[in-house]
Amino acid sequence: MTSRANPSDVLALLAKHYQKYRCFKDTPMLERLILLILGREAPHEKVDIVLQKLKDVFVDWNELRLGRIEDMRAIIAESGVSDPESRALRLREMLSKLFTERHMLDAEFLREEDKEKRSTFLAGLPGIDYAMVQAIECSLQYYKTEPDIALSNHLTRVAQRLQWLPKGKELLVSKAKKTLLDISEGDPVNLAYGLVRVAEEYCHSRTPECPNCILSSVCPTSKKWSKEGIKGDAEESASLQ
Ligand code: SF4
Repeated sequence: MTSRANPSDVLALLAKHYQKYRCFKDTPMLERLILLILGREAPHEKVDIVLQKLKDVFVDWNELRLGRIEDMRAIIAESGVSDPESRALRLREMLSKLFTERHMLDAEFLREEDKEKRSTFLAGLPGIDYAMVQAIECSLQYYKTEPDIALSNHLTRVAQRLQWLPKGKELLVSKAKKTLLDISEGDPVNLAYGLVRVAEEYCHSRTPECPNCILSSVCPTSKKWSKEGIKGDAEESASLQ
């Protein structure tokens, strides 16, 4: 029986490799989306400078939507954030899609949507990937009266392979949430964001890429599979609906 991964080690590796999701209860929904696109793997201090400059230069987000890509790219580049061209394009595409769908640039309606509709809408926006959708979902749940964590099959699979959660019928949603909230050291949003990123990039259901995974040095399943050969185990994992 392998012992579970040390939560502090996992949290340290996630913080090192992925920039934190930093949205709070009152952060407007549209600003969350913009921060996620600007901030993917970019230092917070630089992203904050870009956000402030965009607010200074453009009257509102609609002017940014209609503005010149060269201006956006220049603001991102001069603040030292990488890939200014692709970030500017993704930002423009996201704003355009939101405007096309809603006929206005406002995403506050998402707070009131049910979870499925909200996730589907978010996943359809350019530049917003599954880990970002999960981070938004988790932060919305966390700031309810009682702190909560959004479970997904991606999140559960990695947590099971880290030996934090049991498999099969032993996996109870309420217990799983409590375990992950306890492990998260007060930051379940970033625990969920990081683990879902790991699931998307390395910890695939049937073909996990343990040798390349950022958690391979601390993951008990990786150690086990290094002796026995890598086995995806989707059929054993409980499916959370
Ligand atoms: S080391 Fe392998 S099993 Fe562990 S989290 Fe990474 S991909 Fe998944």
